[in-house]
Amino acid sequence: MGGGTVNRKLFSLIDVKESVKGMFAVEENSRGNIEAVTIDSREAAENSLFIPLPGLKTDGHNYVKSALLNGASAVFLEKKRFKQLEADIAPLAKKKKASLILVDNVLTALQSLGKSYLGRFNSLVKIGITGSSGKTTTKEMLASVLSVHHSTAANVKNLNSEIGVPLTAFRVHEGHEYAVFEMGTNHPGEMAVLADIVRPHYGIITNIGKTHLEFFGSEEAVAREKADIFRYFTGSEAAFLNKGEPLLSLLKENIRGRVILYGTEATAGFEGYENHGLNGLTIHWEGLRICLSLYGQYNILNALAAISAAFHLGISGEDIKEGLESVRPLFGRSQILHGGITILLDCYNSNPDSARSAVEFLEKTEWKGRKIAVLGSMFELGKLSESEHSKLIDFTIGKRLDAVIFFGEEFLHGFELAGNRTTDKNRFYIATEDFDELKNTLKKYLREGDLVLLKASRGVELERLVPFIKEI
Ligand code: ADP
Repeated sequence: MGGGTVNRKLFSLIDVKESVKGMFAVEENSRGNIEAVTIDSREAAENSLFIPLPGLKTDGHNYVKSALLNGASAVFLEKKRFKQLEADIAPLAKKKKASLILVDNVLTALQSLGKSYLGRFNSLVKIGITGSSGKTTTKEMLASVLSVHHSTAANVKNLNSEIGVPLTAFRVHEGHEYAVFEMGTNHPGEMAVLADIVRPHYGIITNIGKTHLEFFGSEEAVAREKADIFRYFTGSEAAFLNKGEPLLSLLKENIRGRVILYGTEATAGFEGYENHGLNGLTIHWEGLRICLSLYGQYNILNALAAISAAFHLGISGEDIKEGLESVRPLFGRSQILHGGITILLDCYNSNPDSARSAVEFLEKTEWKGRKIAVLGSMFELGKLSESEHSKLIDFTIGKRLDAVIFFGEEFLHGFELAGNRTTDKNRFYIATEDFDELKNTLKKYLREGDLVLLKASRGVELERLVPFIKEI
């Protein structure tokens, strides 16, 4: 997998300028080559292009000077910012023999550059993966399977956004046969941009859930957005869709290309599976026993998506088995941390669907000791936030768990509404928005032999509890 960008020509500087329809404000060494593209001035080095993106807290334009001092060979600047920065930056660029390229918009320029770079690899087979959950896992699975015998590029971790996808494009090099792109969207219109950059030959949608509803309004709108991954299909491409997806018919509308359904009812050769709880899953497919170290029943569907795609790409059953068996959980996604108290760390993300799956998983897992769920806030639900947090409380109360702690102010109202259902002499329920109270409660309650699920949206940073729980 992979394909670093070290000492490998990506473009000549002239190519860069032309791909983004830019203009030299300072032209130095324009016959030189660019070997790396970075958005972090600390990574800027000789033969690198620094792209100063606007951020939430700061603007990359404030770091142009440091990128030049670190040796960047070229820097993009937004035209409208140039006048203000010229006196400070132009002499330094000349002195350091670096070029300054003016563009209308730095993000669009990064995307155009990624698209034009990727467009050069005519024989590269590109697979795009999107969905509300399971993208990273499915990407890791498919990339691992393809990598057994083929040189394969893929996103690092989950760099799947309008920035991460073009940056992933630069990881591709001549030797690669496949590139697997995880493509995420949290704003309407974003997927169309990503699909234009990647132009996938194969597109996979894992599922449609209640994610980023704040920006999309409804699950149907989420589905339409995700289906844009197929927007640039021309007839010879293929779409992989989960047969059990409730919004399947909407996803299938207007696809110019083949539609291949996958899933427990659809994947040819699927003969069933065994769920070994925390010890993973065994899939029976085409007479093979594929042992996944990932746990959680939902991973069956992720694996079937990867199996279906790999099978259609002509990958052998042995390679599929070997690739799937070598996948390990990534940080915060269904990770198990063993110890006196065992932690299920699923704090990378949360939404109403994945939180329910996690609660169900905890309930069904065979475990000698007590089971405790710490459920933190689910962000970006917009108007539905309060009701979705209440529904999660209703869903969880009464489940065979010893204790549930709802953490975050979004839960407080729903918890109050749940009234006397939250008082049960065999179970312990509490809701709090105070991190210290959460810690104190855990300190009092937890003991050796417990199994604790930590599930919340990324911003809650529930992993903060890990060192604390380990010390109990
Ligand atoms: P994404 O990259 O789309 O955020 P991941 O593969 O990182 O998804 O998985 C994140 C979490 O989402 C998992 O730990 C699990 O809780 C949940 N999840 C993963 N796949 C699925 C699925 N197919 N259906 C429901 N929930 C899932």
